[in-house]
Amino acid sequence: MNDYQSDSGSQGAIPGGLSRLLELAYNLWWSWQPEARRLFEAIDPTLWRITHHNPVKLLHDVKPERLIALSRDPGFVRQYSAVLKAYDHYIVPKETWFANQYPTISTTRIAYFSAEFGLHISIPIYSGGLGILAGDHCKEASDLGIPLVGVGFMYPQGYFSQRITAEGWQDAIYQPFSRLDSPIQQALTPSGTPCQIRVEMGNRTVSALIWQVRVGRVSLYLLDTDVPDNAPGDRALSARLYGGDQELRLCQEILLGIGGVRALRALGLAPVVWHANEGHSAFLTLERLRELVQSGLSHAEAAEIVRHSSVFTTHTPVPAGHDVFPNHLMEQYFSGYWEQLGLTRDTFLRLGEHHDSHGNGFNMTALAIRMSAHLNGVSREHGRISRKMWQVLWPGVSEDLVPIRSVTNGIHPPTWIAPEMNQLYNKYLGPDWANRSDDTAVWQRVIDIPDHELWKVRQAQKRKLMSFIRERARAGWVQRDLEASQVLARGTLLDPEALTIGFARRFATYKRATLLFSDLERLRHLLQDRWRPVQIIFAGKAHPADEPGRHFIHQVYSLCKDPGLGGHIAFLEDYDMHAAKFLVQGVDVWLNTPRPPMEASGTSGQKAALNGAPHLSVLDGWWHEGFDGANGWAIQPSAGANDPRGQDARDAEELYRILEQEVIPLYYQRDMDGIPRGWIQIVKDSIRTVVPRFCARRMLKEYMDLFYAPAASKVPSVW
Ligand SMILES: *Cc1c(COP(=O)(O)O)cnc(C)c1O
Repeated sequence: MNDYQSDSGSQGAIPGGLSRLLELAYNLWWSWQPEARRLFEAIDPTLWRITHHNPVKLLHDVKPERLIALSRDPGFVRQYSAVLKAYDHYIVPKETWFANQYPTISTTRIAYFSAEFGLHISIPIYSGGLGILAGDHCKEASDLGIPLVGVGFMYPQGYFSQRITAEGWQDAIYQPFSRLDSPIQQALTPSGTPCQIRVEMGNRTVSALIWQVRVGRVSLYLLDTDVPDNAPGDRALSARLYGGDQELRLCQEILLGIGGVRALRALGLAPVVWHANEGHSAFLTLERLRELVQSGLSHAEAAEIVRHSSVFTTHTPVPAGHDVFPNHLMEQYFSGYWEQLGLTRDTFLRLGEHHDSHGNGFNMTALAIRMSAHLNGVSREHGRISRKMWQVLWPGVSEDLVPIRSVTNGIHPPTWIAPEMNQLYNKYLGPDWANRSDDTAVWQRVIDIPDHELWKVRQAQKRKLMSFIRERARAGWVQRDLEASQVLARGTLLDPEALTIGFARRFATYKRATLLFSDLERLRHLLQDRWRPVQIIFAGKAHPADEPGRHFIHQVYSLCKDPGLGGHIAFLEDYDMHAAKFLVQGVDVWLNTPRPPMEASGTSGQKAALNGAPHLSVLDGWWHEGFDGANGWAIQPSAGANDPRGQDARDAEELYRILEQEVIPLYYQRDMDGIPRGWIQIVKDSIRTVVPRFCARRMLKEYMDLFYAPAASKVPSVW
């Protein structure tokens, strides 16, 4: 395949018989296909580990002699042919759920815009939950055959890497990532030229080059302003995710929304449904409005079309979390544009008006809501909160009738499942379990898994996590000359036999990472119990500008280094998708302590449940509807949002009580064979009840049935 080799320098050395390895490496399909992963691992297991499971880099770095030897190895060639056959079968969207369900709109395209996409660590264009959700959305759309295209940003510097200093402070390190080591290629226009677009920004014009990432059958297009035509400041416009001031952010959002529409046009794609994942991309509605008005429609007619074909998902349960741009910036960047929409300055600014916005700024969520007929929050509870928050936009309509619905977030199981667990599911649920992940009948069969087999797999996964942690600590020690106390703080003393709690997420203050530290004596007692030891692994980044979040990390890290806690608390540096997989697959319990109602949904607990680690969480976000009394543990929300200190104290008390009286005794209650039967019961209940309801398959089908299909069919006749 020439187009792969032209991109990739030294990869020309791949022997003819294996030439399609590059094609496989450049489609992230491999990342959720166990056989494809095993194929790349077999090329060179050590390189596979060193490259953090990145086949593009692996093929770059592997010795040509090794590939020649493999091309003559019948076992490998057979494995290669089998994977290719599966790939070729997958990539043609013939007998998919979508094709069966929606034969009449088979040529429809759905454009999905998001400021971040978390697909794989080799493409570091995500910071956290929002991005991971977008990545899982694309993968599942591909699996179901839903004709989706993604639009996002190419951030040449990605999100930052985290380093913890000897004093326990987070350093944020921005390193340009190498495109040659990522499955990213230039996107081409229908005539075969590199796709590049232009967007006016105030009195200048900014160019962006478009890159393409293949995600199974789905393509993701990324805008990149680092091109020679641009002034130096504009070249850096898309350099970083969530960096810079308000004006930079506004420019980024203009690029994503307006530039994103132009990119799809330049690529010759004609989406019928347009989905904005969070408000960052809401300007896309304006660009579509502009196109229609310029084609001769009145503003009202155009707005009607845009509204009917637009889907908007909000993720933020608090007013301060929404993007609001001051009017003077809006005037600077949009005067000259609003006339093209058939609007005046005032009618234009009114599109972003929201009375809660401090002062009179332009609220991106308000814009998205006004311009989209299909609206949702990301859990049942978050839907309710969103209706309340945005009721002002529907004067006279009662809260219950505000047309914001909810589609609860879910995860893409093939991405998050541990290999050993996958084998267990293949054996007991059937080899097609992943294609039926939303079928409750499949998950009933979890009951048939023998306790001792499940326990054995859980223990093996935990040992794997511990060796991952030790390997990272060792690498840090060797490469960065860490002090011994830092090496210990990274978890080298963790015991694979002890009950292990995982807490990994962004260190935003509302996530209350330090709730567990409110009574240190009690915690010390609990962790160091000689017969029933407990350990906690923390991981997560704080936004570099979030001082309280950075202090949380500092506080956690100090305790990790404290000899008084005996190495029972560890901090795993640089939380990303790779580390997240090891954590959700390896710990025994997944802890979550947000301050309600701040967690719109959350998804990490769903990943843990899939892998046999039950959830212990404040009843908020998805857990609000996921907890059934027997499938994990819930900290009941204590009333008193007005009294955060009191709320923290009550929630901490409840957390200690659940650990001391329920979680720890159950985990250590073993039978004659050393198996914790009661514990396994909860593990099974958790898998059985959580996975079918909180998987991306259920989520995508809901988006399709509730929003995409109606939006695709109700396009007014003028279209
Ligand atoms: C799943 C995931 C998240 C989202 O986790 P929540 O805290 O549940 O929202 C964030 N970061 C990474 C790396 C993840 O894998």
